[in-house]
Amino acid sequence: MLSGSLRKRAYFYLLMITLLAGILGWGITARLLERSSQQLLVEQQQRVLQRADRLLNNELLQLATQAERLAMIERAARQPLLQDASKIRFALWRDSAGHPQFGFLREGERVRAMRAQDWPWLLSFSASSRLLSGPHIIWQDALPMLTRQIPLQSVTGNDGWLLVGQPLDATARTTLEHSVGAALRFSPTRPAAQPSRRLLPSASGAPLFVSTEPDPLLQQWLTERNRTLLLAIPLLAALLCAAIALLIELLILRRLTQLSRLTISPSEGSAPLPRWPVRGSDEFDTLALSLNDMADQLRHSQHRLFDEVRRDGLTRLGNRKLLIELLDRHIPALQETPQLTLALLLVDLDEFKVVNDSLGHERGDRVLALVAERLMNLARGSDSLFRLGGDEFAILCLLPRQSQGAERLAERVLQDLDNHPLLLENTAVQLSASIGVAYYQPALSSSELLRNADLAMYEAKRLGRRHYRIYSDAMHHSVSERLHAEQALRQALHEQQLEIWFQPILDTRDGNVVMVEALVRWPRGQGYVPPSDFIALAEETGLIIPMGIWIARQALRALPALREHWPELNLNINLSVLQLMQSDLVPRLCALVDECAVPHSAVHFELTESLFAEQNEFLVNQLRQLSDAGFKVHLDDFGTGYSSLERLLTLPVDTLKLDRSFTQTLERGDERLVKAVLLISQEMDMQVIAEGVETEKEMQRLQALGCHLMQGYLFAKPMPLPEIREWLTRHGAPRSPPPMVRIPQRPDPALNPPSH
Ligand code: C2E
Ligand code: CA
Ligand code: CA
Repeated sequence: MLSGSLRKRAYFYLLMITLLAGILGWGITARLLERSSQQLLVEQQQRVLQRADRLLNNELLQLATQAERLAMIERAARQPLLQDASKIRFALWRDSAGHPQFGFLREGERVRAMRAQDWPWLLSFSASSRLLSGPHIIWQDALPMLTRQIPLQSVTGNDGWLLVGQPLDATARTTLEHSVGAALRFSPTRPAAQPSRRLLPSASGAPLFVSTEPDPLLQQWLTERNRTLLLAIPLLAALLCAAIALLIELLILRRLTQLSRLTISPSEGSAPLPRWPVRGSDEFDTLALSLNDMADQLRHSQHRLFDEVRRDGLTRLGNRKLLIELLDRHIPALQETPQLTLALLLVDLDEFKVVNDSLGHERGDRVLALVAERLMNLARGSDSLFRLGGDEFAILCLLPRQSQGAERLAERVLQDLDNHPLLLENTAVQLSASIGVAYYQPALSSSELLRNADLAMYEAKRLGRRHYRIYSDAMHHSVSERLHAEQALRQALHEQQLEIWFQPILDTRDGNVVMVEALVRWPRGQGYVPPSDFIALAEETGLIIPMGIWIARQALRALPALREHWPELNLNINLSVLQLMQSDLVPRLCALVDECAVPHSAVHFELTESLFAEQNEFLVNQLRQLSDAGFKVHLDDFGTGYSSLERLLTLPVDTLKLDRSFTQTLERGDERLVKAVLLISQEMDMQVIAEGVETEKEMQRLQALGCHLMQGYLFAKPMPLPEIREWLTRHGAPRSPPPMVRIPQRPDPALNPPSH
């Protein structure tokens, strides 16, 4: 309960305090009332007693007068009596007419006897008693008696004392009680409990105490008063509690609730930040003011954050998040406007990594900003441009249905990048892009549309860059197949299932094996996957980078075994462009080669000519580093890459590998192309290896034209390590001039793709 809201707690504590105060107040009031009642009762009793006192005193005064009178009468009549005064007691009674009469008591006769005879007065004579001045009371035979002693004097002196007394009998007492208005009790000793009063002086030694019971009416009134007051206490407490609660509620809790409700609301969904009401200048208003202040600041930073989160820091274009939000907003609107559609273009710059590596990241960023500017100019006003990350941009176009605006935009972008290199500090940066286009189809989600554009872009890249592709459903299947294949290839690499085969390259002048080319094989199912298939896949996915290193390591480790028979044998390793784009490639290769204790000069790296069709300083630099490290560089598939001869001149290349298509022209009796290549190689002082030599005729023509280094099925197909070792042994030791012997081969499985 106490962990609940402030209101609950406040009320709980208030209730507890009220209860406690109520109980305490009740207890204290009960005690006080009790005491005041007691006091009131006592005071009332005292008053009764005072009244009784006064009345009795009056009685006594009257008695004194009576006694004086009696004494006079007695004085007149006593002469004969005094003879035996000590033995006689006097008594007075009333006669039938109500007049006091004397009587004489004999020795031993007591007042009781007088009372029995209804004598209202007591007269007693004593010759020896001591005089008590003034009226007083004596207690005799359980009966209070008002008395007065009068000295009887004769000529001879004091004769004795006459004691006049009036008993306070039942009748007298009733009269007295009636006058004071309360029941009285007389006793010779002071009562312990009730208030009492000593009546008359006590010199007689027999004082009389009078006490009275508390007044029952007053007692009842007080009980009722106390009960009512005590009942009022809890009622008052409850009222007080309610009043305090009401005050707390009105002054504090209600406003606090209002404040907190407003404070909570912004966190619920995307509601705008509230303004707290300010009514006056109390603490809550101060709080509301500072909350409003905070809210303003928050609103401000919220806007900034909103923008920051949705914008790319470099180009200030929207980012992926904003794109998805926009798509989510546009897509439902499309359902209502069937005449419109959405097209999403994903523009990915080709090999931007090379730009970054060669120009540095800072300038790379500036190039990206220039690309963003360029794209902005190419897009229409209604299109939205985004940078999704790295070198990937997106353009969102809202188009009339059936329009081909997206394709035209893609073409414009490709052409523009082709025709107008970007200018960065007077350096022309030639870029190309691959573009995927996806149109919105009914019931597509934003992420699906994005995925479709991505697949189309992926396909465009696969087509060899500088292309655009429009998404089709078939693409989806081919991509998922490729994803499957990629997974399998990754696993094959991880589980070391790939194999390295070797194909010899001979110098046909003496039949010596001068090199072996390492070629990777992927056994899958019953057969082998053709390298042309999976190498491309490995390049697309970047898997070629770890794979290339693995291939190089396996091939290098095999080299010592191959060199057992052919100590001068060189090893040719194929490198992919992606590998060459790794800035740490050369040091890594050096480390590998050194690890296998192979001389650098015995290792040749084959790179496809197409790599150098474009001006790319970074790649050329990498090639230089390879050459400077002592490795030989071969230009593979020479003749197919359309490189300018001028560019080739500047490359540190040792050997040209004449592409198989060129070799085949010889079979058809056309020697022009081969001649031209050989001429170039002579001019450039490079060796030439003819690839794909399959027939005797081809071999002879090549020899006749002066090309002696050959590779092809005519001599040997690629073979696994044990077989090539055996082949090398059978081929005999290095020797001088031909004749060439043809050795029967087992077929190269790479040419018989598996049946999966
Ligand atoms: P490439 O570098 O031009 O390799 C020569 C290709 O020609 C090999 O195909 C080889 O088996 C084939 N070949 C050799 N002589 C003949 C012949 O007389 N007739 C015919 N029809 N073919 C012949 P393979 O092994 O299928 O490799 C295909 C391509 O795959 C290679 O072309 C190379 O570009 C790539 N490749 C193979 N292994 C590797 C590797 O380990 N790393 C890299 N990066 N690429 C590789
Ligand atoms: Ca090759
Ligand atoms: Ca080749």
